[in-house]
Amino acid sequence: MDLFEYQAKELFAEYGVPIPQGRVATTPAQARQIAEEFAATRPGAKPLVVIKAQVKTGGRGKAGGVKLADTPEEAEEKARKILGMDIKGHTVHSVLVAGDTKIAQEFYLSYLLDRSDRTFLSMCTVEGGMEIEDLARERPDALARIPVSALAGVDHNKALEIVRAGRLPEAAQESAAALAERLWAVFTDEDATLVEVNPLVYTDEGQVVALDAKVTLDDNAAFRHDWDRFADPTAADPLEARAKAKHLNYVKLDGQVGIIGNGAGLVMSTLDVVAYAGEDFGGVRPANFLDIGGGASAEVMANGLDIVLSDPDVKSVLVNVFGGITSCDAVANGIVSAIGMLAERGEPVRHPIVVRLDGNNAAEGRRILEEAAIPAVEQVATMDDAARRAAELAAGA
Ligand code: GDP
Ligand code: MN
Repeated sequence: MDLFEYQAKELFAEYGVPIPQGRVATTPAQARQIAEEFAATRPGAKPLVVIKAQVKTGGRGKAGGVKLADTPEEAEEKARKILGMDIKGHTVHSVLVAGDTKIAQEFYLSYLLDRSDRTFLSMCTVEGGMEIEDLARERPDALARIPVSALAGVDHNKALEIVRAGRLPEAAQESAAALAERLWAVFTDEDATLVEVNPLVYTDEGQVVALDAKVTLDDNAAFRHDWDRFADPTAADPLEARAKAKHLNYVKLDGQVGIIGNGAGLVMSTLDVVAYAGEDFGGVRPANFLDIGGGASAEVMANGLDIVLSDPDVKSVLVNVFGGITSCDAVANGIVSAIGMLAERGEPVRHPIVVRLDGNNAAEGRRILEEAAIPAVEQVATMDDAARRAAELAAGA
């Protein structure tokens, strides 16, 4: 789960990572009110506040989503411009109104999980502010990459090693290292896979603060945290939200063939074969990813079919199951009772369902489906043929 900047900064504050003071506004009037409070505590400050679009994507500054304001009136006006703005496909629903920071220099600091090296990694450079991907490509030497052992972590000496490798100026090193040490606590204690500060700012007053904050939390660790507070009702696709509530591994895509399979790898390759087959039918594509996992009970199958068929773009469904631990007869029974359950719920299946069963007890599974003789269900023996048939049905519907 990615956090908004203001949420990431809330975490930073809990761990003593210095951040500029600020609050979130969802209306221009609120932004003005927050700016008025800043005006009272820092009269005459110019700029007074910075208004920052809260969207889960980078490059907000370039897109016009970060603006300075000298007065509460101006803060209201700038917030009105930014709220509702579209930044790389993300609509701005809120802005962070923060006290202006006097920037002397912009650095970069991050911790991430380096899967290829099976370790944690810190990246640091004195050349912050710009898109770090550009720097990494154009002048890789300018970006220090320091492996961090999961066992040793980041103590003050390690933190100093990191900021020195990033060639931060001598005068900023002690404060930056103190910040880097606390940031490591955020990274590990909060089970993050990414904590990135760009820019990490050296102020005119000689302080080091996190001016921006990007945090990705590891969803697998959600059970041991109180992360409901970070939920974003404005973002989630309604179908994805419903699927999540039913513990289904579902991702909405933009095609017309609903996909249900068991095992992430099989579902991924099903997406590929459907997209390939769909080329012959005017560019029909998969409508979703849905992995119902190993033990696909009737209820899981019913929930899965329900979600997939609730997608108004779906014109046909492909159920692609390779029986392993779960045998195909169980899956077939699941499909039959799922369709019955949906009919009972008053949501009878209105689209063709192509089923391909293979693997453990496939013959018995196929027999069960044949005997059930459900008009919507059509069996096809191979994955390629099933994908082709599902694409054809979607195109014809
Ligand atoms: P991003 O573009 O989405 O990464 O948003 P950032 O939070 O990194 O802001 C982009 C740029 O806006 C920063 O690199 C700063 O140069 C500038 N900026 C952000 N906050 C302030 C501030 O408080 N004062 C000033 N003067 N500039 C700021
Ligand atoms: Mn940034």
